[in-house]
Amino acid sequence: MKEETRLIQSISSDPLTGSISTPIYQTSTYVQEAPGVHKGYDYTRTNNPTRKILEDLITKLEYGYGSIAFSSGLASIDAVLKLLKYGDEIVAVDDIYGGTFRLLDLYNRFGVRTKFVDTTNADEVLSFITKETKLIWLETPTNPTLKISDIKSISNQCKNINEKILVVVDNTFASPAIQNPIKLGADIVIHSATKYLAGHSDVLAGLITVNNQNIYEKLKYIQNATGGVLSPIDCWLTIRGAQTLYLRIKKQSRNAFEIASFLEENKKYCIDKIYYPGLINHKNHNIASKQQKYFGGIVSFSLKKDTIDSAKEIVTSTKIFKLAESLGGTKSLICHPATMTHKSTPSETRRAAGIQDSLIRLSLGIENIEDLIEDINQALIY
Ligand SMILES: *Cc1c(COP(=O)(O)O)cnc(C)c1O
Repeated sequence: MKEETRLIQSISSDPLTGSISTPIYQTSTYVQEAPGVHKGYDYTRTNNPTRKILEDLITKLEYGYGSIAFSSGLASIDAVLKLLKYGDEIVAVDDIYGGTFRLLDLYNRFGVRTKFVDTTNADEVLSFITKETKLIWLETPTNPTLKISDIKSISNQCKNINEKILVVVDNTFASPAIQNPIKLGADIVIHSATKYLAGHSDVLAGLITVNNQNIYEKLKYIQNATGGVLSPIDCWLTIRGAQTLYLRIKKQSRNAFEIASFLEENKKYCIDKIYYPGLINHKNHNIASKQQKYFGGIVSFSLKKDTIDSAKEIVTSTKIFKLAESLGGTKSLICHPATMTHKSTPSETRRAAGIQDSLIRLSLGIENIEDLIEDINQALIY
């Protein structure tokens, strides 16, 4: 079965009533016949039928053993970090999502330390592994400069050093329509389903998919102990949104490629650097072509006049591209990382990570490409 069919087939109709749309089991508890005798559900923090349908869906999409749904992407990342204990170490991508960086900083207080490395170079990852290393944390593509790390090669090489090291991939920017990290050797896949999976900018949700029963049970225990579950209505919204994942990703990737090519043609005017893994001159284009089915819906670019003000002028003069944080929805968004998503990063650290003052990030929606190009074109200062 091809993947688009598989996605739709994975959402079963309700066996009780035949309802083709997933029922929303808006309940906290379940009636039992006798103490402990029930239909597999006793309390919604532990299990909920609507949540189960979403969890089974992402397990299929990511080719995993099992999945767990959380109230946000960060709640799911937090659960994974709780697999560690005092003295353990993490080797993480240096270009990591800001919220994950803040959370890792919090864990530092509890004696879980993180070393940040350039994971586009597998040798560099290996050189930071010690006896204490328990997790490798990858994000690919990264935000906002879209660096690509080789999941297969890093997973293989890390497992050769110590097979107990867990490789985690935050797959938010790609989505399962673009790459499946478990197939490439990762143990745990994270999604901020808030972005591409739910896809309509109307819900916060986090998903973890794992490749084996042992990690699944540990994480299930952690979720039940800490309680950051996704509510039934938000599970429903995520299931509903995810049904069009492949359609959206194809369109968004095509739109992103067209915009990146348009910017490339205008390089002689005001554009400085363009970041899109689908362009042949992107630093990691080869590995992106090997690892990804599409190049994704995010494009970033910087300006020749590299100032915060010149970027601000552009991000406030688009009409179709709305100025907002987040990404992955049906509506195209524009964002200025230096003063928005990466505002809390010290400017020196930010610039060292390649996030110039004038860097602008676009999240392509599903609008018509001619309108999108026209909108960007009128906003650029020639
Ligand atoms: C948004 C995002 C998160 C956090 O997810 P929330 O749903 O906002 O908690 C984690 N990782 C990446 C790459 C993200 O873009």
